[in-house]
Amino acid sequence: MILDDLVILGRACPEPLKDGRVTVCLGGWSDKLGFVRLYPTRPDMRWRRWDVVRVEVERNPRDTREESWKIAGSKDEWETLADKVEIVGRVDSPERRRNLIGNLTDPCVSVINNERRSLGIVKPQILKTYFRDNPHYGKMWQLGLPGLTELDGVEVKRDFPFEPRIRYRCPDCQAAAGYHDQQVLEWGFYRWFVRHPEARDQVWENAQFGREDTDIYLFVGNQFAHRSSFIVISVLRVPAGPVRPPLLPLRKRRDDPVP
Ligand SMILES: [Zn+2]
Repeated sequence: MILDDLVILGRACPEPLKDGRVTVCLGGWSDKLGFVRLYPTRPDMRWRRWDVVRVEVERNPRDTREESWKIAGSKDEWETLADKVEIVGRVDSPERRRNLIGNLTDPCVSVINNERRSLGIVKPQILKTYFRDNPHYGKMWQLGLPGLTELDGVEVKRDFPFEPRIRYRCPDCQAAAGYHDQQVLEWGFYRWFVRHPEARDQVWENAQFGREDTDIYLFVGNQFAHRSSFIVISVLRVPAGPVRPPLLPLRKRRDDPVP
């Protein structure tokens, strides 16, 4: 299937595969399919958040989540994967960005989970941003040893001794604890830690938390091995303002009835 309207919403911190490839999970939205997860992708692919891309996708037989796709031929043509993606546009205006994500929100992450969706957007009330020890720090995978991965210089999650986290409440939060507490996997956070280790805490300011003039939305996804456990793939920030309803409802999943 050719997708020609995939809006990139976020990329997660790279992860090594056992075969030595370093991969990035990408999340986005398409008018045709609703929310889309593309995995694996390469760290050196030059697409950015809000780019609109054209890419041929196929089902990933090893991932049953309905939002999960892979780039056609991603394993055999790994080296030339970037050639399979064409950037065809960009969601440039702040209003278009706000209207797009504002019309794709759910009242709570629990609703997304209950509907057995694996991706979604919520508009959070932030209670706390903080760092916690990364339980996987420095641990070696069975084969993907540090230094043997194909892209030297690309830090993966286990290279960071800490993990950034957000505690928040959704507009109609049904979480048992009254709030969610999730790890932020947005790659940009981790690139900041690499470039500015002395200014780690500034990452929250960079993401524009706590500003009157900015609305924060969280693009969340569940984890392959823990389907009811969600992480933050991307902190979406747009100038504060009203969300205009769309002419036609936006599709969140492939089967949504959209006229
Ligand atoms: Zn909630």
